Amino acid sequence: MIPGSFSYHRPTSIQEAVGLLTKLGDDGRALAGGHSLIPMMKLRLASPANLVDLAGIADLKGIRSDGDDIVIGAMTTQHDLIGSDLLGTKIPILRETSLQVADPQVRYVGTLGGNVANGDPGNDMPAVMLCLGATYHVTGKGGERRIAAREFYQGAYFTALEAGDVLTAVRIPVPLAGHGSAYEKLKRKIGDYATAAAAVVLTMSGGKVATCSIGLTNVAETPLWAEEAAKILTGSTLDAATVKKAVAAAEAITAPASDARGPAHYRTNMAGVMLTRALARAKSKARG
Ligand SMILES: Cc1cc2nc3c(=O)[nH]c(=O)nc-3n(C[C@H](O)[C@H](O)[C@H](O)COP(=O)(O)OP(=O)(O)OC[C@H]3O[C@@H](n4cnc5c(N)ncnc54)[C@H](O)[C@@H]3O)c2cc1C
Repeated sequence: MIPGSFSYHRPTSIQEAVGLLTKLGDDGRALAGGHSLIPMMKLRLASPANLVDLAGIADLKGIRSDGDDIVIGAMTTQHDLIGSDLLGTKIPILRETSLQVADPQVRYVGTLGGNVANGDPGNDMPAVMLCLGATYHVTGKGGERRIAAREFYQGAYFTALEAGDVLTAVRIPVPLAGHGSAYEKLKRKIGDYATAAAAVVLTMSGGKVATCSIGLTNVAETPLWAEEAAKILTGSTLDAATVKKAVAAAEAITAPASDARGPAHYRTNMAGVMLTRALARAKSKARG
């Protein structure tokens, strides 16, 4: 299929991009790696009259420490995340998750900003961002604002972004030293979106869970933060009975669609299986 015709713009600053997108309104769309947007345009599920390519804006790229946080520019690719020693050391779940996004070709151009701004419940990074307590930096016509990832997702392809907004960076608080983490994803084949997936970041103290956070991918219209399940696990040794109770609490908040990846009840059940595996693996990596 061939996309509808469009005009192409290539701003070189965030302000220029925001100005263009604000002026164009519903007729304009930000373009990052294009690996979600272009397929949608080819299927005519999106037909923007103008594409505002963010690739020429140097300020949108890079990974840096900022106090207790790491700030990642929106145009940083999944490939860059995998190659970052800083992330590998401080937030290893990002490298682990990036390696499960699509395939190397997509990861070379697909960006973190595009992945989290897209609003597709099948994207892997949003649930990881909920799990990590990330904040999104957004610049729009009113200036810069920060939006907690846990408040960003409103429905399938509906986010807190408004017309003219550019997501400029993702700010992630570095998890405590000695934490354990895991991203478990069930997919039908390499390069597929998740049937269900679970992200876990936890710390242990004296053999018990001191802190725990859980995110779930593709089992509702939005990524899910399983707060109640994490509360149940906190203070436990991750014994089988408590894990079962927590998994039931996580499964209870899911509402997946029945689709080619399986019926809804199967996908809910697989979210529980992924969570059980992620908890065990995160615990095995945690110190304390
Ligand atoms: C074969 C294939 C397999 C895939 N498998 C997976 C997978 O397993 N897991 C997964 O997570 N993803 C998968 N993807 C999607 C891929 O990760 C995309 O790259 C990603 O979803 C979007 O990133 P992008 O940079 O390509 O964004 P684009 O496609 O350019 O943009 C996506 C959307 O976000 C908006 N946008 C992008 N950047 C910004 C910004 N900075 N500010 C405001 N709005 C912005 C765009 O306007 C658009 O609406 C797959 C894609 C393909 C083609």
